[in-house]
Amino acid sequence: MVKHQAKAKLFLFCILTVWQLPAWAQVKPVIEYTVSVPQPATHKYHVELRTAGWNQDTVTFKMPKWMPGYYQIMDYAKSVENIFVRDEKGKDLPFQKVNDNTLRISGIRNKSLILSYDVMTARQFVANSYVDSEHAYIIPAGTFFYIDGFLHLPLNVEIVTTPWNNIATGLEPVTGKPNQFTAPDFDILYDCPILIGNLEELPPFKVNGIEHRFIGYKPGMFDRKDFIDKLKRITEAAVAVIGDIPYNQYTYIAIGPGRGGIEHLNNTTVSFDGSSLSNPDAMNRMMNFLAHEYFHHYNVKRIRPFELGPFDYEKGSRTNLLWVSEGLSVYYEYLIVRRAGLADERTLLSNLEGNINSYENNPGRFHQSLAQASYNTWKDGPFGTQGEERDKAISYYDKGPIAGMLLDFAIRHTTQNEKSLDDVMRLLYWKYYKAKSRGFTDAEFQQTCEEVAGTSLTQIFEYVYTTRELDYTKYLSFAGLKMEELPNTDVDKKQTRKFTLSRIENPDALQKSILKSWQGEK
Ligand SMILES: [Zn+2]
Repeated sequence: MVKHQAKAKLFLFCILTVWQLPAWAQVKPVIEYTVSVPQPATHKYHVELRTAGWNQDTVTFKMPKWMPGYYQIMDYAKSVENIFVRDEKGKDLPFQKVNDNTLRISGIRNKSLILSYDVMTARQFVANSYVDSEHAYIIPAGTFFYIDGFLHLPLNVEIVTTPWNNIATGLEPVTGKPNQFTAPDFDILYDCPILIGNLEELPPFKVNGIEHRFIGYKPGMFDRKDFIDKLKRITEAAVAVIGDIPYNQYTYIAIGPGRGGIEHLNNTTVSFDGSSLSNPDAMNRMMNFLAHEYFHHYNVKRIRPFELGPFDYEKGSRTNLLWVSEGLSVYYEYLIVRRAGLADERTLLSNLEGNINSYENNPGRFHQSLAQASYNTWKDGPFGTQGEERDKAISYYDKGPIAGMLLDFAIRHTTQNEKSLDDVMRLLYWKYYKAKSRGFTDAEFQQTCEEVAGTSLTQIFEYVYTTRELDYTKYLSFAGLKMEELPNTDVDKKQTRKFTLSRIENPDALQKSILKSWQGEK
């Protein structure tokens, strides 16, 4: 009885409290950013954050230390300078710099303030902002302070008219307000880089009725029609794996020559130089690269490890499963380009041979498992440790696609080629992303694979969690393939071992059908 009385009193108290709140307290804080590039030649850009409507006295502003998709601490706040905080009348307000990436401002209850600063840029790279006299590439994680504890709030971004004509970004435009964009929360904001310049847009194409765009800065000389035709085919082949398109529009944003690309929910930012594409090998590498970044909108942005969302912008988000997010995206980039009809079987096998030769020549394979390589990427870097510890680590970009291939062949073999890794990816998409709106744990990933296979896959998962040597012969034979080591005479001076993949002689009906449907042939 006592308990009940206490509850009733508390309930009444809550009703009265809400009823008595003043009107301003129920208004959500307003967060508006303005980005301008007043002097591009200085490699700097200027940011203003206007915020109001806070019903607390002190607010803590933080700059992320990394951006999702690039699993390294970047310490973006180091590039921020000339910080000022002013009230609506332009009067300077005091603020406390708590540490490298944290500012604390007090006395802001029911007031508005403007936090302004410059961001210096130095290096042209896909995970860094970069400004020069011809363009600006803005990485939101290195540009916009978030408000600690309020990552869920909506916000607006205005790009002040610059010397240039165009803006490319995955952010949602505000209707009727040119150069203004909106994001429902900071995760979406940080997922949408902004490219500003005199950009070229190639003719858009539709897949399942949904528009796909390609916009580039200095895209170079190449056959645009042929390129867009190929890009459409790989987009279609990637969509065919999952069968659902979860965005309203997708944009390939080409940021100019350089290295690397980063995936996002409705766009990807990619280094791009079209001038090399007349070389067939370069075109094949470019299609693999674009297929990889595109497939990531499923695999890592939506089909994702439990730990990769919501993100910890301060410490980084560690997971054992980057071999799934990255390694299987490498595996699928090869398959997508093959299934799109842009590569033959030999090219597909050569791509996989590249990963096998790299992995089998790395002494790190006896020291580090795939899961450990995933977890340690923040320390080791995505391609394994460099320097003295170089021989103690592996890259999930090499062992990941190999494990993916063995897993795929195991599922196809045990199900008489009725099911494949594609079914695993679809099940993860529908079960965890669509139905549960969350990522999967290590155990849930294995369970999903075993559910599709209809049997235990213990040996394959030993290849993930231990350094046990891979039984290529067994799993490749499921698809009518074999691996051979070239004799020493063919080996280069570095004493590396070299392996090749090829078809076995006299495959049976199941082996034949697996090899065909794996490559997308009927
Ligand atoms: Zn990737």
